[in-house]
Amino acid sequence: MSYKRIFEIDEWKVIEKSLHKEDMRLAESITSLGNGYMGMRGNFEEKYSGDMHRGTYIAGVWFPDPTRVGWWKNGYPKYFGKVINATNFIGIDVFVDGEELDLYKTEIEEYYRELDMKNGMLYRRFIANMSGKRTLFEVTRFVSIANKELCLISYEATPLNYDGEITFVPYLDGDVFNEDSNYNEQFWLEVDQGISPKEGHLIMKTKENPFGTPRFTVCTSMRTEASADCDVEVLKKDKYVGNKLVFKAKKDEKIQLIKYISVVTSRDYEETALKDEAFKVLDEAVKVGFNGLKEKHSQAWHKRWEKADVEIKGDPEAQQGIRFNLFQMFSTYYGDDPRLNIGPKGFTGEKYGGATYWDTEAYALPMYLSVADQEVARNLLLYRYNQLEGAYHNARQQGLKGALYPMVTFTGVECHNEWEITFEEIHRNGAIAYAIYNYVNYTGDKEYLHPYGIDVLVGISRFWADRVHYHKKKDVYMIHGVTGPNEYENNVNNNWYTNTMAAWTLSYTLKVIDYLNSTNNNARLKELNVTEEEKAKWKEITDKMYYPYDEELGIFVQHDTFLDKDLMTVDQLSPEDRPLNQKWSWDKILRSCFIKQADVLQGLYFLNDQFTFEEKKRNFEFYEPMTVHESSLSSCIHSILAAELKMEEKAVEMYKRTARLDLDNYNNDTEDGLHITSMSGSWLSIVQGFAGMRTFNEELSFSPFIPKDWESYSFKINYRDRLIKVLVDKKEIKISLEKGEALDLKLYGEKITLKDTYQCPLTQR
Ligand code: BGC
Repeated sequence: MSYKRIFEIDEWKVIEKSLHKEDMRLAESITSLGNGYMGMRGNFEEKYSGDMHRGTYIAGVWFPDPTRVGWWKNGYPKYFGKVINATNFIGIDVFVDGEELDLYKTEIEEYYRELDMKNGMLYRRFIANMSGKRTLFEVTRFVSIANKELCLISYEATPLNYDGEITFVPYLDGDVFNEDSNYNEQFWLEVDQGISPKEGHLIMKTKENPFGTPRFTVCTSMRTEASADCDVEVLKKDKYVGNKLVFKAKKDEKIQLIKYISVVTSRDYEETALKDEAFKVLDEAVKVGFNGLKEKHSQAWHKRWEKADVEIKGDPEAQQGIRFNLFQMFSTYYGDDPRLNIGPKGFTGEKYGGATYWDTEAYALPMYLSVADQEVARNLLLYRYNQLEGAYHNARQQGLKGALYPMVTFTGVECHNEWEITFEEIHRNGAIAYAIYNYVNYTGDKEYLHPYGIDVLVGISRFWADRVHYHKKKDVYMIHGVTGPNEYENNVNNNWYTNTMAAWTLSYTLKVIDYLNSTNNNARLKELNVTEEEKAKWKEITDKMYYPYDEELGIFVQHDTFLDKDLMTVDQLSPEDRPLNQKWSWDKILRSCFIKQADVLQGLYFLNDQFTFEEKKRNFEFYEPMTVHESSLSSCIHSILAAELKMEEKAVEMYKRTARLDLDNYNNDTEDGLHITSMSGSWLSIVQGFAGMRTFNEELSFSPFIPKDWESYSFKINYRDRLIKVLVDKKEIKISLEKGEALDLKLYGEKITLKDTYQCPLTQR
């Protein structure tokens, strides 16, 4: 497996010791910062004229970019929604005696960049040699998690061998583009600007659009504080304001500029109040000062780590991987705003925007259930409930009844426009229903089922009941013309995973209906008017669903014609062929047997308790060798199943791949941004994989092993008002109840009652 590692291994830090001009985009992705509300790639404050990708994003601030396709097909969404590149507010241009610092061109010595994950801080230090004048620069940046509307930069310069003039130009620049804009359009208009010697603001509003989606107005403001006397000029032009601060600098004397930045949006305030609100945030911030704000921000990160840190002893690479993933996940989403969701690239890139995918329910929710408050997971579910109308719209677009949740969305309305995904990758609907089961089963919050859960479940079930067709001769129900999770095949018939999740949804909905009818809490259910006839139909579909199966191999067949392919294993491919999606023509990929990500195995993961060990083993051994894991979402599912199937080495290999996917750039695409939604995969691999945590049928259980190179690992989970710590070392497992009442759980299949700490030898599973 090829990989590229440009950062050093450290348990709490990501460190870069030389300037990677050839890999600037990769380095920028990895050093991204965010606070759930806004974030940016690890761009430099000062000028960089080489290849790079400047990107600043604000959660929920998006634009409907008109669809671009070669051949229009009825039903295509009219636009692709994307979280758009917003005002660049980190910028500070720097000049030494009139010569501009440009990290691409200027001679740089002793370059050092560090992402400090413990404290949520990005730090740089380097010496710039400009015409023989050497200056030490030190830059600290953070996006506050203690006050979401604030970003802070401390920019310091120390002349090492001269007295001279140093100029800083802190600015706000709204003249920004999305690299992935379909028609090279800019998405912002300037509404207002202002600049004085100490502070400035820029108000930008998204352009009008013909699709009637909301417009957003964003006010970005800045205030600067200089450590020494300087001359100040104001700079302004279209979509730009700045200050020019000129210092008489002396050898060995440090000068410091602090740039306070606030960002407020029309999502939270009236448009007319934005400017005042932005300055209010700055006024408060300046009172506390840079160091005070930095301290608050670090403390808030420490709190997060106290709850959610996973400690691995004996394997610093694995340790760095899991911390990096948790750090970037929490930087993208910490559940503070129920209107938001988790974009596959978060604030770190444009591809896939910051839109919502099935990734949230399938991969992120299972982790948030354990590491965040129950409300966070509930909010993720409510997000979909609130978008149910959009899901009905999507189904209507396809001439179908019920609700079809979108593959990509901000509002519930589908905004992805490749036919094989929009029209065919309908399995996503199963994940939305499954998330309701997962949440209720994990938390015990049955109240959620009414009115929220049932509304969504009935909508989805009605879709499946209309989307299946009846095969008279065989007396079975089938689903034709779909794309399964394996996007390396399209328009297949009877994708086992899709059929399985469709039938499962119908039967789960019937169970929930029975449950609600046994309570008095069923007013909404009555309104939904699910008739006896309809229920009977759903039951018939679940009983007669067709599942492709091969008797001889004893496996569930991925879809009707999968076994007719030229079946081979990934080890028969030459390294030059990989990754297939960058090397092969699309039709060659479609014809091949190679699988992008867990497909049948995704079903065996979700409905894990419904299949035998032998069934899981046969399917794993058949499909995994054909899987190229070219979706970041793939390895974690394989790691979890491999662990369960006692294939410990495979489980660890897959863990490494998921944990270090971006740090080691395994899929050769991290330059586009981080694979945020798959980052929970490393947590899931440790907790559900190595520690074997399961929660089916409202019962918590563990069945741990320890990877052979590790000395120990530990993690914490929230489970039904309890905080439980699990520590596994080479000899024993120790489970501690850190908060909450005693609990019955299972360890290696044996029932135990957890009161305070339970310790027992690590068993050969
Ligand atoms: C995967 C999808 C996923 C999307 C966004 C694609 O490469 O195949 O399953 O939803 O990326 O992460």
